[in-house]
Amino acid sequence: MIDNASVEQLKNNMDIVEIISNYIEVKKAGANFKANCPFHGEKTPSFVISPAKQIYHCFGCGVGGDSIKFVQEYEKLNYPEALEKIASMMNFSLAYTQGTSDNNEARRVLEQVQTWYAKNLDATPISLEYLRNRGITQQSIETFGIGYVGQSQELMNFLSANMLTIPKAEEAGVVAQRERGGFYARLTERITFPIYSTSGAIVGFGGRTITNHPAKYINSPQTKMFNKSRLLYGYSKAKESIYRNKKLIVCEGYLDVIMFHQAGFHEAVATLGTALTEEHLPILRKGEPHVILAYDGDKAGVAAALKAATMLTASGFDGSVVLFPDGQDPADMIALGQVQQVANLLRNGQALIPFVIEMMAKSYDLNNPREKEVAFASVKSYLDNLTPIIREAYIAHAATVLGVNVALFGGSVKLENTKARFEEVSRDDVGQLSIIKTLMDNEKLVNKVVNVIEPAMFGNYASLLESAINGEQNTNLTGLSLDESIKVMDEEELSRSLASYLFRYYSARLKSITTDGQMPLQQKSFLIRKIKMDILPRLRRGELVTYKF
Ligand SMILES: [Zn+2]
Repeated sequence: MIDNASVEQLKNNMDIVEIISNYIEVKKAGANFKANCPFHGEKTPSFVISPAKQIYHCFGCGVGGDSIKFVQEYEKLNYPEALEKIASMMNFSLAYTQGTSDNNEARRVLEQVQTWYAKNLDATPISLEYLRNRGITQQSIETFGIGYVGQSQELMNFLSANMLTIPKAEEAGVVAQRERGGFYARLTERITFPIYSTSGAIVGFGGRTITNHPAKYINSPQTKMFNKSRLLYGYSKAKESIYRNKKLIVCEGYLDVIMFHQAGFHEAVATLGTALTEEHLPILRKGEPHVILAYDGDKAGVAAALKAATMLTASGFDGSVVLFPDGQDPADMIALGQVQQVANLLRNGQALIPFVIEMMAKSYDLNNPREKEVAFASVKSYLDNLTPIIREAYIAHAATVLGVNVALFGGSVKLENTKARFEEVSRDDVGQLSIIKTLMDNEKLVNKVVNVIEPAMFGNYASLLESAINGEQNTNLTGLSLDESIKVMDEEELSRSLASYLFRYYSARLKSITTDGQMPLQQKSFLIRKIKMDILPRLRRGELVTYKF
């Protein structure tokens, strides 16, 4: 464990601008610094770093936090790992309560076990034969560190001979405890594939059975270092090509990755026996590559591709889908020498958005009007989640696929996703946001506001106002506090701004009451008179009125 006092000392010494500029280019902008956000694709900077507050916030995708959070997110590290990373950046020596870092010890176990697994392979003809039959070369075996593990007892002997402790080996995910006591090797009689973090540190293993064990593949368990939903097999080896060629291939397994690389497609990675999830997106985003989903053409592969393509496009990714035909997978095709065909398939994948639209449509019988209606609704809701320009570009295609009129897609476009985008707000919104920001800045003014306005009267910003009134902390409020285009007002300006907002609010209210066919007449005439003769004139004079009447 890292000593707490030492963590505090490190925190006092770190500077967020210095730390973030180790990773991305930052530019001074007023009191703050700006950069292109590394967590979502963008060309105009909406990522703001505040040296005064020692925090960052992205107005585009809503991420934010302090230096440690940034390093965690960017490097895919856990908290202590991020601290260690920052300490090494700053040449700061962390103190540990037990002498050394836990992860270092567990990592040492993984490294030594890996060397041993790799050596075992040569002595296991059956494994070598399996790999050769799959077309894997000696070169690839070495590049990917493929190894072999035999009986449980052999691993236990190896650990004790090398003075690697059982608790550390358990922490490394190499051994597990029996229910009745004692420990056993997690992988036995398997070909082993070391798994590395994005930065190339070993974090765990995958193992393929050679004895027809019902579980064909097994991975390391979740450990401090191994989180399979945030790892991509082969990424550290693919990284350079991904950045250089602006391309990334996601395939389904270890062997596919290895064979892709062997055939010269060095951008291939695979998920670790899980679907592609949102947790993978920050890794996929690095280098802003075109993402090619290279999946099997069977039912499961198509379903996985559809899910991944839907998620990727909703998050603004560009890419394509390649489904390998007739039960073939990339590994088999490459092993058969069909590298050219694989290259052609990769080049001619279907763009993600049309793929999603067509697959959604395909799952319904479009000759049946009821089913067609459901298909239309799901395609429309998918399109409505894309940005307006992208949405518009694919409406004609969707209409053709579904056999409906383009006009049906018209109307309501969601201009923003659920995250607040303060950049593209109208003047009206600026007034409301200034009011909220002023309240955050000066708690004493809250009382003044709660008498004249309740959150529900604040339209789109109702929940933001409510949070500010309650003194809560959330990422939207942080974003607002860093947005230099929104001013903090003094008390007099606040009154004027409130009066002007309320004047517009009650004017609109008056109009809706007048046209309301449901409201009892007596109530209606009372409200109309009250607003017209009392509230609006007072607000026009700059006087604030309570909403309780
Ligand atoms: Zn962002």
